[in-house]
Amino acid sequence: MRLYNTLTKRKEEFVPLEEGKVKMYVCGPTVYNFIHIGNARPMIVFDTVRRYFEYKGYEVNYVSNFTDVDDKIIKKAIEEGISAQEVSERYIEECKKDMAGMNVKPATTHPKATEEISGMIEMIQGLIDKGYAYEKNGTVYYRTRKFQDYGKLSHKNLDDLRSGERSLLVTGQDEKEDSLDFVLWKPKKEGEPAWKSPWCDGRPGWHIECSEMAKKYLGEQIDIHAGGEDLVFPHHENEIAQSEAANGKEFAKYWMHNAFLNIDNRKMSKSLGNFRTVREISGQYDLQVLRFFMLSAHYRSPLNFSAELMQASKNGLERILTAVSNLNYLMDNAGKEELTEDEKEKLEQAGKYVNQFEEAMDDDFNTADALSSIFEIVKFANTTVNDESSKAYMRKLKEMTVKLADVLGLIVEKKEEMLDEDIEALILERQEARKAKNFARADEIRDELAEKGIILEDTREGVKWKRA
Ligand code: AMP
Ligand code: ZN
Repeated sequence: MRLYNTLTKRKEEFVPLEEGKVKMYVCGPTVYNFIHIGNARPMIVFDTVRRYFEYKGYEVNYVSNFTDVDDKIIKKAIEEGISAQEVSERYIEECKKDMAGMNVKPATTHPKATEEISGMIEMIQGLIDKGYAYEKNGTVYYRTRKFQDYGKLSHKNLDDLRSGERSLLVTGQDEKEDSLDFVLWKPKKEGEPAWKSPWCDGRPGWHIECSEMAKKYLGEQIDIHAGGEDLVFPHHENEIAQSEAANGKEFAKYWMHNAFLNIDNRKMSKSLGNFRTVREISGQYDLQVLRFFMLSAHYRSPLNFSAELMQASKNGLERILTAVSNLNYLMDNAGKEELTEDEKEKLEQAGKYVNQFEEAMDDDFNTADALSSIFEIVKFANTTVNDESSKAYMRKLKEMTVKLADVLGLIVEKKEEMLDEDIEALILERQEARKAKNFARADEIRDELAEKGIILEDTREGVKWKRA
């Protein structure tokens, strides 16, 4: 299995740190609004990477954070006259609903930055003790020039960076020893959330959050660190500087970055105001169509959002769904049970499409070619199945299609709907779990229901539910 490593700028064979296991950290969203479909790209892409590792038999520990303290969250809280925590909690819940709609599996752990502050303070103190950080008037900075390897991920030259930065110096930054030094801890401003620290009441810088959460939930060395390509510099470069200086070890072996989702050939972003939220899209299309669209291009190629491509994705998905539902219908009416010799041979032929699928995914997760292999199976089923086919033959072809589509996170067979009484029983169990302060079980039930398309709403009159 080969994947492209931003660190070495080439495709490399994947060799896990620990046999049979993958430790993976994906930078998550800043939660101050509904996520947009640009944010959805890394979620879908790296969920697919995870699913493929699992298909190959690896046990994946997948950690993805929520950045729940940030200037933008604070700004939104002030605008709405509520606390920053209320803002972030609201949008974490909304984000989880969108993820469920896109069939993105919940991470093994979804840490929140605000719940990990003490670990961050410890890491910062460690960096100060080793001479990699210093405090000035309550702000702690990372001493970038002390870290020899700075620039190794973004392939930037320190001197070029420094001359570029110098011209950008703004007031207040001159207390830094060097223009490239970045903030690890900053003093609070009036009305902002703050935590006690040895330096001042304040809050962490963004980069240290991920270094600490990766270390706490995955350890000092991880296999894969991932995110959108805008995170390469400075975010990931700074994470490397912090983690490697603090831990004295190589941080992540492989760095994976998805290209942008564009609209009218410009990056979709909140600041440009050209974004479409996942929620908005879900009003127009099944979110499975959005997932299909994202996977129809290689993750390292820019992808331009358009109604035409969404329509093509809808048609493509429909073709697979129709083939599966035809197989189901024919299976119900099949006369023969057992495979014939001819069918056994045919299944061997179909097996080559499974190999093609794996070859495509083994080659840096080429999901576009992987989708083509699924279409080959669909075509094969459509042309070789007839009234005479045995039930076993059709079942095998269907299983092949459903299994490979599932690796891409595409649900191509309508699941049996959950019965109302089963849903209500689970809701009751969740309430009891909450009362008993067993929040892990309560969350598990909510996620299980979300996976089945059941959305819960906690209201003053109790818990209400609806089907997505
Ligand atoms: P943010 O909430 O801006 O920190 O972004 C969360 C994740 O979404 C990061 O991995 C970003 O790189 C990624 N991201 C943001 N905008 C886009 C986009 N237009 N295309 C692809 N990825 C994006
Ligand atoms: Zn991060």
